[in-house]
Formats: sequence, structure tokens, C-alpha cells
Amino acid sequence: MDGFSAEGILIVGLGFMGGSLAKALKKRGFSGPVFGLDVNPEAVERGKKLGVVDGGWTDYDSVPWKDVDFVILASPVRTFEAIARNLKGRLKKEATVSDLGSTKRLVYRLEEVLGPRFVGAHPIAGTEKSGVEHARADLYEGKKLIITPTERTDPFHLERVKNLWTFLGSKVEFMSPELHDFVFGVVSHLPHAVAFALVDTLRALSGEVDLFKYPGAGFKDFTRIAASDPTMWRDIFLENKDNLLKSIESFKNSLERLEKLIKEERAEELKEYLNEISVLRRGLD
Ligand code: NAD
Repeated sequence: MDGFSAEGILIVGLGFMGGSLAKALKKRGFSGPVFGLDVNPEAVERGKKLGVVDGGWTDYDSVPWKDVDFVILASPVRTFEAIARNLKGRLKKEATVSDLGSTKRLVYRLEEVLGPRFVGAHPIAGTEKSGVEHARADLYEGKKLIITPTERTDPFHLERVKNLWTFLGSKVEFMSPELHDFVFGVVSHLPHAVAFALVDTLRALSGEVDLFKYPGAGFKDFTRIAASDPTMWRDIFLENKDNLLKSIESFKNSLERLEKLIKEERAEELKEYLNEISVLRRGLD
């Protein structure tokens, strides 16, 4: 099992990401029980009915804590601190706690509650879909998984989290929580903010004509992520506020540069600018 072992795993937040984790564990042959805890009873029922988890509850007291030595937080990031306070006092001495959250400086606040057993992690995988019914067993295979250790992180728990994700076929990388939030503020949180704003622009300009009748593949490709879960994205935007605001400022500068070139009809410069960017984008694939 690639060095990974656990008696039983509890996933807190049985949605798309948590459900995909449960399915991936089973697909890869994890033999212990995988449990789910969610505030939404429908998510728990669905998870059990679909066979994604071996047991599921909405309250902490029903969880068989003696069978759990690994907990993964998979709910919206702003729920993590309250969940950590609920876990404290219920966990076995050797239990590891980690997460799937999209922002990582909150690791320091979670360490305050849970101590060095908490290890922050972020799978660079996902879609705009939410809910356990969309969960996919292969979601994490071949995808990057960023672990964000701090000075306090316990090496034993760090190793367990690394082994979990290697076992699931992810490519593990390490980053500081600060670097993580800067990087993903630019490459993930900004594009989501822009996609939301772009769809809003169509709404703002729809008057006599309903512009939503006309978008082609380009608009749909560009804005697919604006169909994402609003609670999840509200939490990410607020948790990574400083990095996101700097990214938005930089994006506005780029848009202003483009606006100026168009307004002043500087055709040669405009073409040069578009060419530079087009080359950069093609280099991504
Ligand atoms: P989701 O909406 O599909 O699932 C979230 C689940 O958490 C829901 O079932 C909800 O009922 C539950 N929940 C909410 N508050 C809770 C609480 N206090 N206690 C227990 N359960 C609670 O969302 P998702 O896409 O699975 O995202 C989950 C986490 O994964 C988020 O932290 C997000 O930042 C992170 N993430 C998402 C993606 C993605 O593309 N979807 C990618 C990487 C990381």
C-alpha cells in the first residue's frame, strides 16, 4: 500500500471532493472503514446509498471514534476551525488530521486547536460540480497534491499524509502556506473571480436582447468555473483576501493596457501584445 496504513478514515464534509476521496480509497484497495460526517443529512444518506462510505452521521457523538485514526476536512474552508474544535477531545492520541481546502494559511489557526497532528494539504484537482453524487474515484490520480507543512508539523503525521496521497496516485509537492496562497490566489482564485464577473457582465448588458441566448463555445469554456459552489468560493475569496485583491489589481492593469491600445487604435502594438500573450498561453499546453 505504498507505506500507507490507517485503521479507519473519517471524512468531514461528504461532498464532491470528500466523496471522491472515499471512492478513491476503495478503488485503490484501502481495506479499513471510510466514514462520513456532514451537516447535511441528505449528503450523508446519499453517500451511504451510493456505497461511497461505510457509515455516515450528522453528529459527532455518533462517530465510532475508537475506529478512526485519520480525519480529513472536506467542507468549505471557513467551517474548518469550528470542526477542529469539535474534533479536539474526541480524537485518538495517534490520529492524524488533514484537509482538502483550497487556502492554506488557515493551517496556523488549525494548529492552534489541534496541535502538530494537523497537516495542511490541497489537491490540485476538481471541477465546478459539487455534491457526493458527482464524486469520481479517479479524480486525484496523476494530479498534483500540495502539502503545506509548518515549523510545528509533526514528521510522523506529515509522513502519513504524504503516504495517503502517494497511495491514491497523486504527485506530492511541498510549499509553505504563504507561498501556496500567493500561487493559487493568482492561478486559481483570480480566474474564478474573473469568470463570475464576466457572467455578471452579460447580465448587466442584457436589456432589449437576452445575451444569455448567444454565448458560443469560447464564452462557455471561459466561464465554466463560474457555475461553481457559491459557499465554497465565498470562503476561498475571503480567506485569501489579500492575495486575491493584489491579483485583481494586476488584472485590472492588464485590462487597462488592452483598453488603451484599442481606444487609441495602436494596431501594431495591439497585435504585438496579443502575440506575446498568445505565445505564453500556447506554451501552457
Ligand atoms: P461540496 O459543496 O461538494 O461539498 C462540501 C460538503 O461539506 C457539503 O456536503 C456540505 O454539506 C458539507 N459541509 C458544509 N459545512 C459543513 C460543516 N460545518 N461540517 C460538516 N460538513 C459540512 O464542495 P467540494 O467541492 O467537495 O469542496 C470541499 C472542499 O474542497 C473545500 O474546502 C474546497 O475549498 C476544497 N477544494 C475543492 C475543489 C473543487 O474543485 N471542488 C478543488 C480543490 C479543493
